[in-house]
Amino acid sequence: MTSTLKRQIQQFYDASSGLWEQVWGEHMHHGYYGSTGKEKKDRRQAQIELIEEMLNWAGIRQVGTITGDCPQILDVGCGIGGSSLYLAQKFNARAVGITLSPVQASRAIARAQEAGLANEVQFEVADALDMPFADDTFDFVWSMESGEHMPDKTKFLQECYRVLKPGGAFLMATWCHRPITPATGELTSDERQHLAEIYRVYCLPYVISLPEYEAIARSLSFQNIGTADWSDAVAPFWDIVIDSAFEPKAILGLLQSGWSTIEAALSLGLMSRGYQRGLIRFGLLCAHK
Ligand code: SAH
Repeated sequence: MTSTLKRQIQQFYDASSGLWEQVWGEHMHHGYYGSTGKEKKDRRQAQIELIEEMLNWAGIRQVGTITGDCPQILDVGCGIGGSSLYLAQKFNARAVGITLSPVQASRAIARAQEAGLANEVQFEVADALDMPFADDTFDFVWSMESGEHMPDKTKFLQECYRVLKPGGAFLMATWCHRPITPATGELTSDERQHLAEIYRVYCLPYVISLPEYEAIARSLSFQNIGTADWSDAVAPFWDIVIDSAFEPKAILGLLQSGWSTIEAALSLGLMSRGYQRGLIRFGLLCAHK
């Protein structure tokens, strides 16, 4: 992974995570507004429902080990540990979260301590493309909205596969662009320009389509691969984020967080317009090793 991209992602999350937590809470991801996106919900509840709906969709009702040992969960791109703590508690498991941001990792460690789970849930600054874990370590690998930051999507899935125990489950959600089919054609130059703006503002090297993720997963021998496009269910999130940016504490926080966070806030419309025109897609992939 190039050190420039790594540094940009690290600085972006170092600078913006405190404000996000203050305004939105511990989950730094979309919410679920019913399968057609029409349901009105409390915003934190919508984020928890996204986690629950994904687990349900993937058929993950429990995370267990054949030996009966405590199950091990890996949260790839963990933010401040929202999913890691939630999943560890739900499945009575141990969890490790990795992030590129030292600010996120230390906040996540503090949150685990506050929850009385410092022994069960741990956090490290580590690169998902070169994970500091042995092969066959985890029963469940979870990645919520980090794939879009990965400069090598194959290496990303390869690492997730490597650290998973045989029989273990993988579940991810990630930002994608629309599929390229003979009917829809290649991305137009206007679509490419729109994507380039999103990449620049949110520190993404590029995104790919969901069928491309599926092809990579197949090439790596993942089993029982399932995919789904949940764009309609999550797209309302961005309009709600835009509204929240006008709350007085958000405006004050933005002014204190620096230019990259302000620019990201000013560019929220890029994502809602991306969904509206069908360019941005919210892709899910589940599989087993
Ligand atoms: N999954 C979290 C956070 C999503 S934000 C949540 O839902 O709350 C994206 C996260 O991906 C950030 O924590 C960022 O540090 C992490 N990330 C991006 N690229 C990464 C990489 N190469 N290795 C590890 N983490 C990465």
